[in-house]
Amino acid sequence: MLSIESARDTILSHLQPLPPEKVSLEEALGRYLAEDIVSSIDIPASNNSAMDGYALRCEDIKSAGTTLAVTSVLPAGSVLEKALESGQAVKIMTGAPIPKGADAVVKREDTIEIQGRVTIQKVPKKHEHIRFHGEDIKKGTSVLHTGDLIGPAQIGVLASLRHLVVSVYQRPVVAVIATGDEISEIDEPASAQKITSSNSYTLISLVKASGGIPLYLGIAKDLKHELINKLAEARRADLILTSGGVSMGDYDIVRALMSEDGNTLVFWKVDMKPGRPLAFGTLLGLPAIGLPGNPVSTMTSFYQFGRPAILKMMGARNLLLPRIRARLAVPVEHSGERPHYARGILQREGEDLCVRPTGPQGSGILTSMANGNCFIILPKGKTHVDKGEFVDCEVYHEIGML
Ligand code: AMP
Ligand code: MG
Repeated sequence: MLSIESARDTILSHLQPLPPEKVSLEEALGRYLAEDIVSSIDIPASNNSAMDGYALRCEDIKSAGTTLAVTSVLPAGSVLEKALESGQAVKIMTGAPIPKGADAVVKREDTIEIQGRVTIQKVPKKHEHIRFHGEDIKKGTSVLHTGDLIGPAQIGVLASLRHLVVSVYQRPVVAVIATGDEISEIDEPASAQKITSSNSYTLISLVKASGGIPLYLGIAKDLKHELINKLAEARRADLILTSGGVSMGDYDIVRALMSEDGNTLVFWKVDMKPGRPLAFGTLLGLPAIGLPGNPVSTMTSFYQFGRPAILKMMGARNLLLPRIRARLAVPVEHSGERPHYARGILQREGEDLCVRPTGPQGSGILTSMANGNCFIILPKGKTHVDKGEFVDCEVYHEIGML
């Protein structure tokens, strides 16, 4: 059976980043750069003051208590043409350009100004409290790179560089189809035989949270023509995600359809728990990930395969969930037959970063995901992991302050 890593590599080898598009800076948050950003300017554009204080010549201040004549006041946004002479100081505000001749700023707290003269109470170091021309960004340097995730800091850098429009990779449209005769929509009458399609909602949210654009196509009954009808509406998608219909049952239509002429079943089954019966292939020529139907399997498989697929199409460099090593807070048993992605709570306990499972771990227990923030990866072949042993965890939800 394919390992998670080989299965993921196989899926990713069938996908490419989508073409770039230009978006305004305001729309760029959460997107991935499709261009390298080379600065055409220096930032800061001039040497300027990092403090409210007095610009002066260091050689004038041999000892604390030296007094200088205050010749001008320089607000931020103004420039002083006249050079500072020996024995003089300029009262300067944060951000104002350093006057010629000055080589340090003494902050206001270390001075006393009385009647046009300022007493410097602390001997300054040369260049103290001066922000130098180009010290953040030098003209001609490559500041941001293709594949970088655009967060608030990158937006700020792009704004400083006056990039009102940026080139980013397009977001994939991801068709979501639930399957199953027993599955019903949230607004259909409930009954004991029916299961409300939570997967529709988790998958739509997972696609959004990964940066994709969900195209929800509803529930297909376990009849091939129903799935084919739904797929007809998926033509404008870049990726298809289905839930259910990939197991061993007589009515497992997703896998059956992938095996028919015109479609492809690239692989079926992955060596993992939960989520073994994953199918990957093409439907109508589009890449399709057939996620297993049990709600925890659906989500776990999405994080392992769907999310990296979406991120790759969005041009991201880093496709995997963040991994953290933590100590198990309690001993854990598992079958050891497959790598087990148990759901856990990662938190700081005293000096240690600890993790504990969220309780019952059945693949239908969706609260095991909702109560947790990470997958605890229990390795294949190891049936008992002791309290205090280190385990790898993959973080999928807010972890707070660790
Ligand atoms: P399947 O993989 O089609 O055999 O589905 C396995 C089980 O997953 C079903 O018996 C349901 O309990 C559950 N399931 C399948 N689809 C959904 C869905 N859309 N929402 C919630 N649970 C589902
Ligand atoms: Mg089913």
